[in-house]
Amino acid sequence: MQFIDPHVHMVSRTTDDYEAMRAAGVVALIEPAFWLGQPRTEVGSFKDYFSTLVGWERFRSSQFGIRHYCTMGLNSKEANNEPLAEAVMELLPLYATKEGVVAIGEIGYDDQTAAEDKYFRLQIELALELDLPILIHTPHRDKKNGTYRSMDVLEEHGCDPTKVIIDHCNEETAKEVLDRGYWTAFTIYPGTKMGNERMVDLMKHYGPERIIVDSSADWGISDPLSVPKTAALMLQRGIPEEDVKLVTYGNALTAYGQSGQMKESDWLDAPDIDRDQLFSGNSVLRNGRKTDNIIEN
Ligand SMILES: [Zn+2]
Repeated sequence: MQFIDPHVHMVSRTTDDYEAMRAAGVVALIEPAFWLGQPRTEVGSFKDYFSTLVGWERFRSSQFGIRHYCTMGLNSKEANNEPLAEAVMELLPLYATKEGVVAIGEIGYDDQTAAEDKYFRLQIELALELDLPILIHTPHRDKKNGTYRSMDVLEEHGCDPTKVIIDHCNEETAKEVLDRGYWTAFTIYPGTKMGNERMVDLMKHYGPERIIVDSSADWGISDPLSVPKTAALMLQRGIPEEDVKLVTYGNALTAYGQSGQMKESDWLDAPDIDRDQLFSGNSVLRNGRKTDNIIEN
């Protein structure tokens, strides 16, 4: 089977992860712009990070046979640094219109402060203006209220729920998010939040429609293989293959394909990998490594 991981922060993952993901069947991924653990103090740090998402990381991923897309946004946590947030908002329109950008995100609430609310709304308006889907990060604290409030605000701005992906949903929030017509995404963290077995139970309860599974793997304890692993468990537990395909591939493609930036032929018709290729003068090869490792897609 082939998989899409529609939420994974590859800048903080290794080449081993890329190799393991590709071997497990991941053919495409989406890397949302997010915070880096270390708070940024200069707008230039954002600029270089955004450039990395559409530049080097996209290239690096291609060298492991995985098509890379990203979302652009000012994350909710750093929205609380208002002078910086203002400057980032000026950068965003430029980066949001680059090739391979499939949504504005991940945006929403962290601590649900006034500043977070302000920049959430400004970015909703940007997404509407650019006619891009929106990826919502729902808060880890006070999740239920934060999730409902996010949807209230989206609806206040006239967003079409079929163009919005609400991520980090759980058993407590799933029904409301589905009932209100949104794409409902679940992050499978190892040991916490959505365990694999819990995702199987959710699938048995709700079926595959508008449900999306992702890893949200980043610099914290997380698993870049959680999409293929969850798919394997679903099949083992008797969920039909076509349903598993929808939640680990098809639904993400439909949701983010609305950007006009992501289509199946991008990876189905991709050329074979050539690791002699350079990006800004750099390749993923290191001294002495010959090109004996050309991989066919
Ligand atoms: Zn994330």
